[in-house]
Amino acid sequence: MTAPAAPGAGVRHVQDLAVEGKRVFVRVDFNVPLEKGTRKISDDARIRATLPTLRHLIDRGARIVLGSHLGRPDGQVKPELSLEPVAARLAELLGSDVTLADEPVGDGARKVVSDLRDGQIALLENLRWNPGEEANDEGFARQLASYCDVYVNDAFGTAHRAHASTAGICKLVGEKGAGFVMAKEVEILGKLLGEVDRPYVAVLGGAKVSDKIEVLDALLERVNSILIGGAMANTFLEAQGKSLGKSKVERDKLPIARNFLRKASEKKIPIHLPVDVVVATSLDDAEGSKGVSVDAIPADAMALDIGPATVEAFRKTLAAARTVFWNGPMGVFEKPKFAAGTFEIARALADNKLALTVVGGGDSAAAIMQAGLADKVTHVSTGGGASLEFIQGIDLPGIAALRG
Ligand code: ADP
Ligand code: MG
Repeated sequence: MTAPAAPGAGVRHVQDLAVEGKRVFVRVDFNVPLEKGTRKISDDARIRATLPTLRHLIDRGARIVLGSHLGRPDGQVKPELSLEPVAARLAELLGSDVTLADEPVGDGARKVVSDLRDGQIALLENLRWNPGEEANDEGFARQLASYCDVYVNDAFGTAHRAHASTAGICKLVGEKGAGFVMAKEVEILGKLLGEVDRPYVAVLGGAKVSDKIEVLDALLERVNSILIGGAMANTFLEAQGKSLGKSKVERDKLPIARNFLRKASEKKIPIHLPVDVVVATSLDDAEGSKGVSVDAIPADAMALDIGPATVEAFRKTLAAARTVFWNGPMGVFEKPKFAAGTFEIARALADNKLALTVVGGGDSAAAIMQAGLADKVTHVSTGGGASLEFIQGIDLPGIAALRG
């Protein structure tokens, strides 16, 4: 089998682009969570993540035009999804002015861009206010392209979407490349697609088998073993004939789960399922929660976390690993009583200093941050869906568009 070209091959880094005095459009991912009502930003990590690229461009005297989406306005002007709070927060973080255009494209946007001087920043309004963004409309892409001489994509979280600002615009701008966030994602996630140090262990969990079966199938071709927890494990356990009580189980996915276990056993790739779980009669029944063997789940109980024996077994496998990819919490980590399994797995990754340890997935990233261990692993991906598609070996449209 010949190895495919690395995903980052042919993609230039912003450091290697001629940006001095040029208008540079930067596609960023400012899709931050906003508190309802007050519209206060509850987590500004995505804004902070872009600072290295923005500071680099400011230092080199580029005229910076930022574009992002926020939420799902579905092609309509929705004032509650204005980027106004983002512009304010960004200005605070950079300690410089950020001019917000009152529209994604149009006379107002054009004016704001043409007023830019070297080292200054303008932010276009929510790109998804215009239906052309998600439709990858050529006319809309042309308008965006008319605001810049150079294109930089730093929005890895949107790289799996072929939209006007991630794909269409790239055909219309000669000088283009990846920002610091994008380049790092491609470099580190790209390692998981090449030759890795072994054992390579994948930890999969989260809500549904149906969301992740393609990821599981793809990982089966690359890893040495897979640890499965979370609600996903429930479906696998039931597929093996266990009684799961009232646990979340995808009954219609039992054949898929059985088929996967059969394929894994043919390939001699061990799949480790929980041997014990933390159960309760409901999500709010913290007092009644207890650890039980997966062979003794009461009929009125639901499995909400992996148990201590499972944590111990998973820890051992993870301690011996030299490459780890983790996606999907081991339990309902949003509730402290059911967070231990997830946090222990986070700790196991953090403790393994010899391994390349990569975390992908929106809730998984949130979980390792909550555990306070995000800076103790090699990489926490900023992309949820994008990171999962990437590690399946899919050539993401937003990355493909940066080549050539
Ligand atoms: P990611 O965003 O990292 O890909 P998912 O979205 O697949 O992860 O799954 C995260 C969700 O799965 C969390 O909200 C968590 O509460 C839920 N979950 C995990 N384990 C269980 C369980 N045993 N029962 C019910 N929900 C669970
Ligand atoms: Mg999720």
